[in-house]
Amino acid sequence: MRLENPQGEVVLHEVMFICRDASVSTHKHLLFFMTFLDLGLEENLLQAITDMGFETPSEVQEKAIPILLQKETDLVALAQTGTGKTAAFGFPMLQKIDVKSRTTQGLILSPTRELCMQITNEMNNYGKHLKGLNVVAIYGGASITEQARQIKKGAQIIVATPGRMKDMIGRRMIDISKIEYCVLDEADEMLNMGFYEDITEILSHSPEEKSTWLFSATMPKEVSTIAKKFMHQPIEITVGSKNVGSENVSHEFYTVNARDRYQALKRLADANPEIFSVVFCRTKRDTQKVAEQLIADGYSAGAIHGDLSQNQRDIVMKQFRSRQIQMMVATDVAARGIDVDDITHVINYQLPDEIETYTHRSGRTGRAGKDGISMVIVSKSEARKIKQIEKIIQQKFQQKEIPSGMEICEKQLMHLANNIKETEINHDIDAYLPQINDALEGFSKEELIKKFFSVEFTRFYNYYQKAKDLNVSPGDMSGSENKDSVRFFLNVGERDDFNWMSLKDFLKDLLQLGQDEVYKVDVKDTFSFFNVDTKHKDLVLGVFTDFQLEGRNVNVEISENTGRGGGGGKSRSRKRGRDGGGFKGRDRGERRGGRKSSGGNDRDGGKGGFKKKESAGGSEFKSKFSGKRRGKSKPDSKGTGGKRRRS
Ligand code: ADP
Ligand code: MG
Repeated sequence: MRLENPQGEVVLHEVMFICRDASVSTHKHLLFFMTFLDLGLEENLLQAITDMGFETPSEVQEKAIPILLQKETDLVALAQTGTGKTAAFGFPMLQKIDVKSRTTQGLILSPTRELCMQITNEMNNYGKHLKGLNVVAIYGGASITEQARQIKKGAQIIVATPGRMKDMIGRRMIDISKIEYCVLDEADEMLNMGFYEDITEILSHSPEEKSTWLFSATMPKEVSTIAKKFMHQPIEITVGSKNVGSENVSHEFYTVNARDRYQALKRLADANPEIFSVVFCRTKRDTQKVAEQLIADGYSAGAIHGDLSQNQRDIVMKQFRSRQIQMMVATDVAARGIDVDDITHVINYQLPDEIETYTHRSGRTGRAGKDGISMVIVSKSEARKIKQIEKIIQQKFQQKEIPSGMEICEKQLMHLANNIKETEINHDIDAYLPQINDALEGFSKEELIKKFFSVEFTRFYNYYQKAKDLNVSPGDMSGSENKDSVRFFLNVGERDDFNWMSLKDFLKDLLQLGQDEVYKVDVKDTFSFFNVDTKHKDLVLGVFTDFQLEGRNVNVEISENTGRGGGGGKSRSRKRGRDGGGFKGRDRGERRGGRKSSGGNDRDGGKGGFKKKESAGGSEFKSKFSGKRRGKSKPDSKGTGGKRRRS
C-alpha cells in the first residue's frame, strides 16, 4: 500500500507513524523518515532505524548508502572514527542479501575482536526485523569449534578478524566462494596490524565478481595499494576534513601541584557524579596504579593496558560498556580498542608523550553528535604545553579551577536529591513498610529528609570539610613550593634519548620516588634539570655517587637555579658536554613497542556527524547508569559510604 503526495511516499510514513505512536510529533518524524527513506532503504530497516533512535543519516551514510543500493560497484569510503561507517555498509548489505538463503553472502573483515563483536551487534540491531538473519562473528581467542558450529547453521553474513578467518578457511570450516559483498572495515588499521597477507589469502578464496567495499579513516599508501589490487574502478567518497578535533568537545585544564594530581582526579570525578570517562595515563604502570587506587577509594574504575591478557581486557571492556565501570584508566595504545560512545569526559591524568596524541584522546568523547569534555590535569611546569596543544587542535582551552570540597558536597547533595526524585519505587520493600513506619514514627517529612540526607551524605562532608584548595596558578612559577625544593643538574639529555617524560620515569624508578615527587624536569640537548623536595636531596646525591649506566658516569649537581621559568641554569650549561658513550632512555613500555599510527591526527573526530534522538538510547542509558552509580563511589576508603549500612 502506498500513499503518495506530490513529493513522494512521505505521507504514507507519516500516517503509519501516527498509528504507531500518536504522542510523538509527526513533523519531526516526517523529516526523519524523509531523509533515511530518501536513501532508498526498505521498511524493515527504517523500522530498525526508528527503534535505534537515529534521526538523520550521517554524511558517510548519505553518500554511501544510495550508491551501494543502486549499483553493483566497488567502493572506497574515507571517514573518521565515529561517523557511522558500520551503518553505511551494514544497511545496504542487509537490504541486498537474501535472508531466506543460508548461503554466506557477505563478509566483513575488521581488525580487532572488539570491533568484530561491535559490528555484529550493530548488524543484528539493524536487521532485527529481518526474519532468519544470522550474522556470525569470527575472531581469535574463542572456541573455534563453537564458531564453526554457528557457521554451519547458515550465516548469511560473517564478521571476522583476518587471522581467525584465514585459519577457518584453511580448515575448511568456512566457505566464502559464493559471497557477493566483502567489506574491508578500518582498512588502515588492518594493514597497520600486519594483516595484508591474511587478507590476500582470504580474498583468493572469494569470487572475482563480488563487490568490495573498503572503509577507512585514513588513506595511507598501503590502503591505496590494496584498493588497486583488489578492486575494480572503485567509486570514492570522502567525508569531513582532516586534522581537526571534534567541535563537540570542549577543552579544560586544571593546574595543580604535581603531587596533588591524584586528589585532583578524585575531585573532578566527585564533582561529576554521572561521569563516564576514559582517564589517560602515560605508562602501563601508572595506568594500573591509578586504577587500583581509584578502586581502593571506592570508585567504579578499571584499567586497560598492554600488560593485561586478552581475557582480562575483555572483562573490563564488557564492564565499561555496561557502565559497571565509570572510569576506565587507559594507556594510549590500549584505548584504541575502546569504541564506546556516550563517554562524557576524557581526563588527561598526564599529558601524552607526544602532544599530537592529545587529539586521539579527546576524540574519545563528543562522538555521535553528543557533547563531551576533555580535561587536562597539569602541573605548573607543564602548563606551557597547553599552548602547544591549542595550536594543534585549533581550539582554545578553558582554564578551570578544581572544585572546592564544599562545591563538591553541593553537587553530590543535589545529585542525590535528583536520584531520589527519579528512582522508581521498588515494591519488594512493601512488606517491610509497617516495621519501617514504626521505627520512624513521629518524624515530620522535613526531619526525615534531613536525617536521610545526613546518613547518605555525611561521609562526603567529613571527607571534604577540611579539604584544601588544590589550585595553583599556571603562570606562577615561584611560589612557596620552591622553598623546600632543590633543583639538580644532570649530565644526560636528549642526545641520550631522553625527553622530559622518559627522564622523569627513569628518575622516579631509580630513586624509588612517587609519581609526582620528581618534577620540573627539563631536558636539554646534552644535560637536564629536575627538582625534588629538599627532604630527598641526600637520596639523590647518594644514588648518583659513582653512578654508572652502560659504562658511563652519570652525575648530578645541585643547581643554584630554582627552576623558575622552566629553563634553568643556562650559565653553567655550556661547559657541560657529554662524556661520550651514551645510552638509551629506559624503555617506555608500550609507547615504543606499539605500532605507530599512520593516520596522524585525523582518525578521531566528529566531522560528518549526526543527531541521535534522545528518547531511544538516551533515557535508558541514563536510568541504568544512575542505578549503578548510586552509593558506589566514596571519596575516601575509610568513609562509610561505599558499604551499605547494616542496620
Ligand atoms: P565508525 O565505524 O565510523 O567509527 P560506527 O559505525 O561505529 O562509526 O558508529 C558510531 C556510533 O554512532 C554507533 O553507536 C552507531 O550506533 C551510531 N550511529 C550510526 N549512525 C547513526 C545515525 N545516523 N544517527 C545516530 N547515531 C548513529
Ligand atoms: Mg567502524
